[in-house]
Amino acid sequence: MVVILKKDPNEKQLENLKNWLRSLGLELHISDGANQTVLGLVGDTSVVDIDLIKALDIVEDVKRIQEPFKNANRKFHPQDTVIEVGGARLGGGNFQFIAGPCSVETEEQICYVAQAVKEGGAGILRGGAFKPRTSPYSFQGLGAEGIRLLLEAKRETGLPIITEIMDLHQLEYFDEVDIIQVGARNMQNFELLKELGHLRKPVLIKRGMSATLQELLMSAEYVMAGGNEQVILCERGIRTFETATRNTLDLSAVPVLKTLSHLPVVIDPSHATGKASLVRPMALAAAAAGADGLMIEVHNDPQHAWCDGPQSITPEAFAALARDVRGILPFCQYSYES
Ligand code: PEP
Ligand code: MN
Repeated sequence: MVVILKKDPNEKQLENLKNWLRSLGLELHISDGANQTVLGLVGDTSVVDIDLIKALDIVEDVKRIQEPFKNANRKFHPQDTVIEVGGARLGGGNFQFIAGPCSVETEEQICYVAQAVKEGGAGILRGGAFKPRTSPYSFQGLGAEGIRLLLEAKRETGLPIITEIMDLHQLEYFDEVDIIQVGARNMQNFELLKELGHLRKPVLIKRGMSATLQELLMSAEYVMAGGNEQVILCERGIRTFETATRNTLDLSAVPVLKTLSHLPVVIDPSHATGKASLVRPMALAAAAAGADGLMIEVHNDPQHAWCDGPQSITPEAFAALARDVRGILPFCQYSYES
């Protein structure tokens, strides 16, 4: 349920209303926007007499929220959420490029790619240390050592870093990681999501390969229910009958998610397509659809990459892509804020 307040409500009356709602056992989520203030009520709202609240001087309207996600719901929080990490902003009109290799391989490799993507326009460095691989015989990532190398690249370039966590036990290595990624395979690892909800650092959640958008939003809700409101949603392609691409990029996820939620939406055209040649067109399409950012796999030597070489683009191709995406951004502005 949301209570939409009239402009400039009387302070005393507002305090009384909040205290009363809290006394009913409800948790309040207050969203102060330029045009309106919204009180989001979390808990058993069946105890609330809507007509009574509607009749108050300071109240414009009261609405029940049908969707099962509350904190992630745009009705609760009409303004776009903006994520800020190490000088990089994402969301609310701040387009961001997250780029880097699929996996951290060596210090030379990650530091070289970090510098190259920074020069090419990336604001956040990606690189996998703990890798979810389909085969147990494939390279599993450098683990803690990979995070140490990412931190080295962060020190050299000043870029904030994002890397994937696969298991709660790995959390001890993530202290200096700026954004924690929950991969497609872990999107519904609810124990992991709950634990990340206790942190106060951004979490990027990738859509599971057979997950609906509502399920993705419910995963965000798990993190937010713990009090961590810094969640980024990422569409990375879903499983369909199509085999020409690694996955099928669901670009309609962008306007759908942005209508339903205030959280920033990022597109990963690398894992979505599995082919380097398709990354650029789908990156441009994602920007045109109104995405808040792109996550792109970039490798200095894609042919010899230890993981996901066929979908990795070179730093030069990334720089050209970033330049061209920036070129179309002024024509791709949509507003979902009410
Ligand atoms: C990744 O980004 O490295 C990754 C493994 O992606 P996904 O979880 O989308 O497969
Ligand atoms: Mn990859």
